[in-house]
Amino acid sequence: MTTDPEPFADPGFDGRPGLLDRRRRALRDLRISVTDRCNFRCTYCMPMEVFGRDYAFLPREELLTFEEIERLARQFVELGVQKLRITGGEPLVRRDLPRLIDLLSRIELPEGGPIDLTLTTNGSALRALAGPLAAAGLQRVTVSLDSLDDEVFRSMNGVDFPVSRVLDGIAAAREAGLEPIKINVVAKRGVNEASIVPMAGWARDEGLILRFIEYMDVGHSNGWRVDDVIPADEIVSLIDAAWPLEPVESNYRGEVAGRWRYRDGAGEVGVISSVTQPFCGDCTRARMSAEGTLYTCLFGSDGHPLRDLVRGTVDDAALRAAIAAIWTVRDDRYSELRSAATTDLPRIEMFAIGG
Ligand code: SAM
Ligand code: SF4
Ligand code: SF4
Repeated sequence: MTTDPEPFADPGFDGRPGLLDRRRRALRDLRISVTDRCNFRCTYCMPMEVFGRDYAFLPREELLTFEEIERLARQFVELGVQKLRITGGEPLVRRDLPRLIDLLSRIELPEGGPIDLTLTTNGSALRALAGPLAAAGLQRVTVSLDSLDDEVFRSMNGVDFPVSRVLDGIAAAREAGLEPIKINVVAKRGVNEASIVPMAGWARDEGLILRFIEYMDVGHSNGWRVDDVIPADEIVSLIDAAWPLEPVESNYRGEVAGRWRYRDGAGEVGVISSVTQPFCGDCTRARMSAEGTLYTCLFGSDGHPLRDLVRGTVDDAALRAAIAAIWTVRDDRYSELRSAATTDLPRIEMFAIGG
């Protein structure tokens, strides 16, 4: 048991006061899901066979209200969170999202100064919403885009959505000043392998920060197999052969993307290697689902419901104590455990099912 009298003030992780878990990792990032719905059916995330017309999404009253999200977010920031990322499902399908951004953009760090406020989207609605989101105080966006090849993109998003509309959404984000824009690409063997080098060339030309994500065994629906993963090293080699790369030191402790710089000065590319080179040792992230359940690991099956507390009569200090009680006993390191099992394939199956 920790007997630390000032658990909120321990600077042991990165020199800034924070709340440390059992592995001495600070709570620095909060990803807030604002809906479980999405207008896409990406094969690796919400495959149509599972998330079909009859799938029961959360009813509206189960979702946290914007005021509840803001109140919880404020407590997380008090406890050391510096960065809020809005996500989903597809966050832009949540009605009136700019109003939430307006509320969150007013939150300040305990030591003063703004929090880092960003959003991850599939980009499909950015033409309509980039302006209102920027006006409400959103600083930048990450857009997920798996291929520039229209046929490949349409089949990966599962709803035949044309790539041209996402590209137009990215242009809208740029016009609205939501920069720097990051692009997330999930790399899947035999599906968008041939898109890796063209995407790197495009991002170089456009001045976009490209990040490849190893295909992960999240959830139970995507039929993940280790053979479908394109390892980060291979992604880096493919790009390096076209435009030579050199490694870059990480920006801060807890940064998840391995970063590489083009030797010719044309920017950077990142690779999130959670399968082949796990980074649990520096994982500072918590995730809150749309109904207000807190997860301390992407692969965690047991969440901690906070909705009843935030809807009840408890004061802010009690909310913070509840969050602190969850974080200080956190011991998650799923990816490290999965990686340790890669020499023993039958165990991966077990971990994947359990994941
Ligand atoms: N709908 C938004 C979007 O697609 O950007 C936000 C939510 S989405 C779940 C967040 C990110 O998770 C996206 O970049 C997506 O590509 C990534 N993702 C989803 N399933 C994944 C998987 N199985 N492996 C790796 N990344 C995945
Ligand atoms: Fe929707 Fe994003 Fe999942 Fe694709 S990755 S299905 S866009 S939530
Ligand atoms: Fe963090 Fe869990 Fe991912 Fe490890 S597996 S990096 S603990 S979210």
